Order: sequence, then C-alpha cells, then structure tokens
Amino acid sequence: MQCEICGAEIRGKSFRIIVDRAELDACDKCKGFGKEVTPRGPAGMRRGAPAASGAPGSMPARRPRRDVFDQIKDELVEDYAARIKKAREAKNLTDEQLAVKTQSKVNIIRKVERGELVPEDALVKKIEMALDIKLTEGVAEAERGGRKGESRVMTLGDLIKVKREGNR
Ligand SMILES: [Zn+2]
Repeated sequence: MQCEICGAEIRGKSFRIIVDRAELDACDKCKGFGKEVTPRGPAGMRRGAPAASGAPGSMPARRPRRDVFDQIKDELVEDYAARIKKAREAKNLTDEQLAVKTQSKVNIIRKVERGELVPEDALVKKIEMALDIKLTEGVAEAERGGRKGESRVMTLGDLIKVKREGNR
C-alpha cells in the first residue's frame, strides 16, 4: 500500500486519516497531517439505534391552542361611546352627574360619549360601575393581532409577499 500523502510504500500499519474531508491512507509519518478516522462497527451492529431526531418531514410541534386563551384580555368595545350615552340617559343622569360619579370632568365625559376620547382603563371601570354596564369584552390576543395588522407577527410567507411587492 502506498501513502497517499508522501507516496512512500507503507510497510506495516497504515493509517486512515481525514484531510479536508477526504479519507486517505497515510503512513506513520504522515498520519499527523489529518485526523485519524475512528473505526466504525459493522453496519449490522447499528440496527435498533434510535432514529435521528431531525428526521426529514418532522415539523416542530405547534403551540397548543390553549396559549391563545391564556392571553385573553379585556378590551374596550368599539361602540363604547354609544353604550355610555344610552346607559347614562336611561338612568336620567346628565353628563355633569356622570362626571361627578366617575370622579372625572364633564368635558372628558362628553368627549368619550362622542367617541373622540378613548377612556383610560380606570375611567372605564368607573363608568361601568356608575352606569351598571359592561364596556369591555374578552378578546384573544390572536384576534386582536389580526384586526390591528401592524402588531401581527409576520410569517415567512408575509415576508416573501412583501419582498415581491417591493420588487414590482
Ligand atoms: Zn507518508
């Protein structure tokens, strides 16, 4: 057998080494140029070995659906303005009286009722208490994201679409 590195005839033991991913037979002097190949057991011995974890076609497990419901948040209803006005009038309260009841200011109540001002969470709670109404509803994060396109996490598909549209 010839050493594939120096070309010398190998007398005695030859060494199988890897140099730049190529397997070569080397003599004792040249074996240091590469990494010695560790002998593998016969193929038959590998039977019953556990399947590789990264098997092709195996997709990462989807997040359980439960996660969506864990993120349900109370969100102000869209017709909060109309609901407040209707409930206030049903109770024969003036906007000034509602302002007093909610420790707010009459111009704030008026703006809220016209839909010009989104009340803070604290004021929403006070109005709900004062008028005995509900102004929030549980909205899943996923649904919220879908409605407000901006905050939605982009998928790979979206990115490709954006890229294509940008190249137009
Ligand atoms: Zn050699």
